[in-house]
Amino acid sequence: MPDTTKIQSDVLDRFKAIVGPQGWIEDDNDKAGYLVDFRNLYQGASPLVLRPANTEEVSDIVKLCAEAGIAIVPQGGNTGYCGGATPNEAGNEIVVALTRMNKIRQIDPLDDTITVEAGCVLADIQAAAESVDRLFPLSLAAEGSCQIGGNLSTNAGGTAVLRYGNARSLALGLEVVLPDGEVWDGLRLLRKDNTGYDLKQLFIGAEGTLGIITAASLKLYPRPVETCTAFVALADSAAAVKLLARTKNASGDGTTTFEYIDRACLDLVFAMHTDLADPFAEPHAHYALIEMSANQDIAERVLGDAFEAEEILDAVIAVSGAQAANLWKLRESIPEAQNHAGGVIRHDVSVPVSRVPEFLARARVAADETIAGIRVAPFGHIGDGNIHFNLVQPEGAARADFLDRTHDIEVKVHDIATDLDGSFSAEHGIGQLKRDELTRYKQPAEREMMLRIKAALDPQGLMNPGKVL
Ligand code: FAD
Ligand code: ZN
Repeated sequence: MPDTTKIQSDVLDRFKAIVGPQGWIEDDNDKAGYLVDFRNLYQGASPLVLRPANTEEVSDIVKLCAEAGIAIVPQGGNTGYCGGATPNEAGNEIVVALTRMNKIRQIDPLDDTITVEAGCVLADIQAAAESVDRLFPLSLAAEGSCQIGGNLSTNAGGTAVLRYGNARSLALGLEVVLPDGEVWDGLRLLRKDNTGYDLKQLFIGAEGTLGIITAASLKLYPRPVETCTAFVALADSAAAVKLLARTKNASGDGTTTFEYIDRACLDLVFAMHTDLADPFAEPHAHYALIEMSANQDIAERVLGDAFEAEEILDAVIAVSGAQAANLWKLRESIPEAQNHAGGVIRHDVSVPVSRVPEFLARARVAADETIAGIRVAPFGHIGDGNIHFNLVQPEGAARADFLDRTHDIEVKVHDIATDLDGSFSAEHGIGQLKRDELTRYKQPAEREMMLRIKAALDPQGLMNPGKVL
């Protein structure tokens, strides 16, 4: 087990010597941003934040940690939603931020691959791909600051999973510093490699509990020849599921995004952004934002058919990039608009796509029954069966009192998702926030296998302790 006393000053000096003057932060003000999570749920402490410049320095840091029995908290862009990158309060863990490791090592449009260091910001990888006329499809609202090491460690999802898969399905190979400091060079550019256990998968979604990802080779795709964005109004969520099937059938593999939005979300967006306009003359209860790699004719035909089948009530197809961007802004503004409205109890559940309407109906009843006046404002990636079933405090209620009820509601929502063969964490991971939920909902045999893998790779328990397991 990690030492629970403070770290000795001579050991701190050895850490500083490994990374050099540019690579460590000790000043309280400068450290502050590394010690709190994005949602302000956890405040940690650490004597030193290390910012290594290369894999060798990461390896030397980890070797020293193994020797001195010091726990490590890897950190990327620190945008995670579950407190996975925040150290404990005791001040006996070292934060290793990958920020300075942001080089693109290789890019090849013929192989359709890019190899990058773990600290590369997601948007920079997208731009590098575009510079050789390729697409790196992973896309989420935090893309301007999250890093690929964090994306892989949380197996991030986002808005293009429907067509391209989550972070896991975009990885070809990894370079990882193992808990004893050894560097595993698993960087491959291969689409096919059936040589036993696929070891990279262990580190993807591990949230830093099995090693530090220092680089990754990733898949690139051709850029879509045509893109069409539509915003539609629906009678109910069941219509969204029907429309999804219709869109997929008509566009072949070309439906890249299919997002669900409850009207309550748009009301909050309009309350905050008076510059944004409702795409329709009158309000509707449910909406979908759809993006297809298809031409306007196909989109018009699908939506026309859906209109005749009475699945959709109204629709706009963007005729310009600016109009498409405005439609996207409605979706992307939701999380911020919810925060703006007060306390928010968040969920990130998934169920089989066909069961989303039943999930929404049952979870809404559970929320209404638990807190009178609660504002049910779900949205999310319905194409993946992933709903952010978010609940905003009743108007005028005390924020803290509302948030105190989080657990009461969470259990009900997670039980409903589980009952529908779903997951209590679809894309945000576990971190420290959902660790108890993992114990509650994972099958005992699954959790036992996870514990055995952890013990085999990290017998000293120094890699991000207290997270996930
Ligand atoms: P961090 O928050 O720094 O770390 C996350 C976890 O990974 C921690 O456990 C950390 O220890 C570990 N870690 C980080 N880097 C490494 C490494 N190199 N090696 C080993 N472990 C490491 N998530 C989605 O899935 N879909 C979304 O649509 C989405 N939208 C978001 C929108 C906003 C506005 C925000 C703020 C967040 C959103 N997220 C979303 C959550 C978050 O952005 C993702 O989980 C992201 O992948 C985290 O990356 P990061 O670099 O910020 O990681
Ligand atoms: Zn999401």
